[in-house]
Amino acid sequence: MTNQATPFHPDRLKRLLNASGTMTTLGASRGVPQAIAAAALMAERFVDIADLQRHASRAIAAATGAEGGCVTGCSAAGLSLAVAGAMTGKDLARIERLPDTDGLRNEIVVQAGHLVNYGAPIDQAIRLTGARVVPAGTAARVEEYNIADAITERTAAVVFVISHHVVQEGQTALVDVVDLAHARGVPVIVDAAAEYDLAGPIAAGADVVVYSAHKFLGGPTAGIVAGRLDLVTATYLQNRGLGRHMKVGKEGIAGTIAALQAWSERDHEAAAEREAAILFDWECALEDVPGLTITRHRDWTQNPVTRLAVKVEYEAGLYAWELADRLAARDPAVIVRDDLVEHGTIYLDPCNVSEAEAALVGIALREEVARATRRGDGRAMSLGARRRAAAAAALAWGDPLQP
Ligand SMILES: *Cc1c(COP(=O)(O)O)cnc(C)c1O
Repeated sequence: MTNQATPFHPDRLKRLLNASGTMTTLGASRGVPQAIAAAALMAERFVDIADLQRHASRAIAAATGAEGGCVTGCSAAGLSLAVAGAMTGKDLARIERLPDTDGLRNEIVVQAGHLVNYGAPIDQAIRLTGARVVPAGTAARVEEYNIADAITERTAAVVFVISHHVVQEGQTALVDVVDLAHARGVPVIVDAAAEYDLAGPIAAGADVVVYSAHKFLGGPTAGIVAGRLDLVTATYLQNRGLGRHMKVGKEGIAGTIAALQAWSERDHEAAAEREAAILFDWECALEDVPGLTITRHRDWTQNPVTRLAVKVEYEAGLYAWELADRLAARDPAVIVRDDLVEHGTIYLDPCNVSEAEAALVGIALREEVARATRRGDGRAMSLGARRRAAAAAALAWGDPLQP
């Protein structure tokens, strides 16, 4: 007898209210209708992938101002393949030989404060190509001379990260990194996975830029690589090597083209108004909650997103991370942005909630603070204990499912 799996339907999953933004582990974003339709249409057809990728190249060029582009499995894949392309160029034998980099320039310079973890460490995305990561400077202080010193005749590229994840102080700006690298004949690859500014990095002189299709664009899970035609071609050609292990399908490519088109036609003002209305509702719901101090917070890297910063003070009776965990344990789960909880602050992101969902988020916050105050059961779990519990929960993935 074999086990019969219960038929799957998304309604069987626990419902999530996503007030955290575009998180990969939550499914990133709500797909825009144009991308969903394009992916569905392509899914039932045969296609010459090289031809489809040429169409993608034109769409990416139009959106970014770059010479061309290609679609990859995700941004992390795009980064790996762009690094691989910078090492191999358009040499098919070298492409098949990776991660063996004998005889190739194989060092990738990264400012120390850009060695981030976006769910996985960025240095691993670089290293799995066979490249070696050469950090420049120290975590919060990278001088131009550190970068100049790190670039040698073995350097294949400099990787530059634009993200709230990077150390915000003491790094060298993109235009200056571009000048330093180009003066030495080295290309600059920019990871701008979650950045709304599709044209900025190319305009600033970047040679290759990587974006996620599934974040603000509302596309399918995919990566967008834009840049100089020789480097983009070398990136695309990695599909004959390392790229095979992280490939994007026809539906991902077609959906990405549609998402880029939809983005250029989207009414961004209407979206901003919708988000402002949600922030206002949250402010009304939370302003009189004892122990919560709320302020509006512009995005860290100037993306056109304003979030509500909720500072959890002593009077709230629980730590910020306990509030985040208790919200996530509700049904429906309320997921807030908790990457800065050690500062006692959680953030509410309006991008991925409807107005009805936002109202439930406000109610949930009020209830959890009131419950902790009433029961006096907060301020019990240290941040270290919370991290250990999160690691243990990750390991428990394969344990038998609850019926
Ligand atoms: C999200 C993110 C990534 C990973 O993007 P995927 O497309 O999910 O692989 C890489 N870098 C940064 C800065 C990110 O924000």
